[in-house]
Amino acid sequence: MRVLQVASEVQPFSKTGGLADMVGALSRALARKGHQVDIVTPAYRGVLAHAVGAKPANWRFSIPLGGQWEQGEFYRLEIESGLTIWFVDHPRFFDRPGIYNERQVDYPDNAARFIFFTKAALLLARFLDPNPALVHCHDWQAGLLPLLIHHAKVSRPWPEAPATLMTIHNLAYQGWFPASQWGLTNIPISWFHRDSAEAHGQMNLLKAGLMLADALTTVSPRYAREIGTPEFGCGLESILLRREYELTGILNGVDYEEWSTTANSYLPHSYSVDSLEGKAANKRELQAEMGLPDEPDIPLFANISRLTGQKGVDLQLDALRLLLYEGAQFQFVLLGSGEPALEQAYRELAAENPRVVSVRLGFDVALAQRIEAGADFYLMPSRFEPCGLNQLYSLRYGTVPVVRATGGLDDSVMDILENRDLATGIKFQEASARALAHAIRKALAVYRERPLLDHLRRNGMKADFSWDRQANEYVTLYEHLLHEI
Ligand code: ADP
Repeated sequence: MRVLQVASEVQPFSKTGGLADMVGALSRALARKGHQVDIVTPAYRGVLAHAVGAKPANWRFSIPLGGQWEQGEFYRLEIESGLTIWFVDHPRFFDRPGIYNERQVDYPDNAARFIFFTKAALLLARFLDPNPALVHCHDWQAGLLPLLIHHAKVSRPWPEAPATLMTIHNLAYQGWFPASQWGLTNIPISWFHRDSAEAHGQMNLLKAGLMLADALTTVSPRYAREIGTPEFGCGLESILLRREYELTGILNGVDYEEWSTTANSYLPHSYSVDSLEGKAANKRELQAEMGLPDEPDIPLFANISRLTGQKGVDLQLDALRLLLYEGAQFQFVLLGSGEPALEQAYRELAAENPRVVSVRLGFDVALAQRIEAGADFYLMPSRFEPCGLNQLYSLRYGTVPVVRATGGLDDSVMDILENRDLATGIKFQEASARALAHAIRKALAVYRERPLLDHLRRNGMKADFSWDRQANEYVTLYEHLLHEI
């Protein structure tokens, strides 16, 4: 089957978070299962230079965007057999330092940028030969596309029109814009209503996708249940409840070629479930790199994250302060970037506790790998977490996850109290510094009980969250949709 993936980030070309990992890895897994996969994504600054072999597809186009005509061009790269990526080139929209924002401030023309992007994707859906049977849209940046396809089908005959699937990676980001921007869609205003993109008098691009796609998915079964409630639904819970039977939660997988403890050029020492000495050596290297004392017997905790309320990093800060006050013996490393106040608070924590806390502010894929390999425990105190990837990487790297029982974290980590034989980590329920500190104290106790630590590590390292497996769930869903429509 031919599937078109529509995403504003794709690993290894552009990334701000888990969306990029998911689209890159799912597409590869589908292609390896024999499907023909096309991905369409913007050619941000530097992307075409990085995409060695990408060539102009001899496909220039002109798209109406409100009162203007915007010219664009597709570049094409066949990544491997069955997997082609189409880059949408429009320098004025995409040749910028950031993907969505600069210094935490969104680009003011994001509606124009991503409506243009979805219109370019519509061209591919319509004119690729053969037509894709299914268009898989990811997050608000692609949210308008199910509506565009629906509108195109209704406006003129399109017997080969594809089925549409909308995946929610994070409901907190919906693409809200003033209603006046609806004009950029060039679709009659009679189409702008509460059963399409209108919400509270504004335009909501994700809502358009949620209303008009043939089916919906999100990235874990528990998050699929959570988003039907006011606590997690971000105002869209009634729509999600209405479409409950068309909404499926499919846990993200891991690209184990990229996240491997053996044959990985990012890691100073390889190791495996049968020989963990390399992990101890990686810990020593990480302590040196992060300027922490070389203490093999002090447990090393880590966190790699966007610094924002969702990730509970403020709770983490308070929990660490509490443990430091108690005189607990541990080390902690953080890699992240985000809200300036949080960055500053972590900088201060490290400055006050240089032998215990080390902080690196920025985005560094290689360091993220070394941290996963060198740490003993990985903290993930998220207030909500659609899937979460770092707990999955941690499992494979023998780094015991300590997570809040929410969304994909609850689905992917087994606590000692749930099943001691199959346990892979430590979970806590309440989103509070006190509950996190309590979970960290449990981790400190586990660290002192070596056989239990090794048991958790080994269970985690052996767990299979491969895309090879998870992609089958998408294939089943795609096939079901194609039969239905
Ligand atoms: P989200 O998409 O909500 O940010 P996920 O856990 O789904 O969270 O995915 C985050 C991805 O981004 C992971 O691959 C993680 O390793 C990576 N990441 C986050 N922050 C950084 C950083 N500062 N440096 C390198 N990688 C990071």
